[in-house]
Amino acid sequence: MKQLFQKSHKLDDVCYEIRGPVMDEARRMEEEGFQILKLNIGNPAPFGFNTPDEILHDIIINLPNAQGYGDSKGIFPARKAVMQYYQAKGVFDADTDYIFIGNGVSELISISLQALLNPEDEVLIPAPDYPLWTAVTRLAGGRPVHYICDEESDWIPDIDDIRRKITSRTKGIVVINPNNPTGAVYPREVLEKIYEIACEHNLVIFSDEIYEKIIYDEDARAAYSPMSLIAEDALCLTFNGLSKAYRAAGLRAGWLMISGKKRPFAKDYIEGISLLSNMRLCSNMTAQFGIQTALGGYQSIDDLVRPGGRLYEQRNLCYELLNQIPGVSCRKPKGALYCFPKLDAERFGIESDELFVLDFLREKKVQVVQGTGFNWPHPDHFRIVFLPDKDTLRDAIGRLADFLADYRQN
Ligand code: PLP
Repeated sequence: MKQLFQKSHKLDDVCYEIRGPVMDEARRMEEEGFQILKLNIGNPAPFGFNTPDEILHDIIINLPNAQGYGDSKGIFPARKAVMQYYQAKGVFDADTDYIFIGNGVSELISISLQALLNPEDEVLIPAPDYPLWTAVTRLAGGRPVHYICDEESDWIPDIDDIRRKITSRTKGIVVINPNNPTGAVYPREVLEKIYEIACEHNLVIFSDEIYEKIIYDEDARAAYSPMSLIAEDALCLTFNGLSKAYRAAGLRAGWLMISGKKRPFAKDYIEGISLLSNMRLCSNMTAQFGIQTALGGYQSIDDLVRPGGRLYEQRNLCYELLNQIPGVSCRKPKGALYCFPKLDAERFGIESDELFVLDFLREKKVQVVQGTGFNWPHPDHFRIVFLPDKDTLRDAIGRLADFLADYRQN
């Protein structure tokens, strides 16, 4: 039908496949009465990972204080708690004036890219990535340029590829550590190299650290460093929030901290971030009252990611079961909530990973996300969430094994 009302050209190349056509199909199937196992979204609460009571308690008792608009940057106690959190880690210039609270990290990603990019400006983004970074770069008129993360080296960024892809238009580099979708946790040397490149070319470093506290292995935990500690002489934007470690994704609370010795040279850019924050008046007030309690309270996430903890055990099981399937191989995720296995595309004749995911959904009623949805350039990966309990994971991965036993796409 001829459309009278069309979306703007700004959206021509913008996509977010995690909630794309496969989700529409799953919804349609649910409406027909099918039960779908949804292993497609990193949303902890529906899988029994509840927000700690003390956070909910503080939100509830502060509900009367959340009726009016608040400061566009966020309520002071929340920003102060974020400042103290990073100061305690050793970030020398963490400062409430340079901390912004947002409706999740998502909104702050959007604000910080919209405030920076002019048409055709380039942003280096990992492939695979959390696709919001690519989508928002495009929406802001910029050009995402993907640097490869190397599966053979546990999905570590390929530094030579980053160097090759720098041009006079490169404005920033995105680092997602621990990584969604690969689960990689980057060694310090890799972050140092990225930092050197950023200094050399005056790039803004966007460090998405939303899985900072979800690291499973002792060595990876010991190796982990927030980028702001390394990038002291650069301009570093750190993103984190309540969605994952505090299992409060629906509350929509995140923060952005701007640090580094180049900050005085970013006055104009930071004014742009403030302007966009002002224009949306303020972030959801209710959730902001949970931030101080979250950061200062008992870190129950630690119990979940250590041996014997639910997430730790589910990570192990998911990784092991996937690798038992002929034609499937998976690097062990060191952090985050996902496995990103490789499919033997030749063996299964896969030309479209979206079709593979749709076929699997229709036949076995399990929903995962295709690798190209994370801007991975080949149709040979998918992402599966290991939030469900062990029995559900066994069931879902068992269905995948059955499905692949006689699957050929062409
Ligand atoms: N960054 C990464 C790497 C994510 O995986 C997600 C959500 O899955 C987000 C940001 C969005 O987080 P929020 O819920 O705070 O908007």
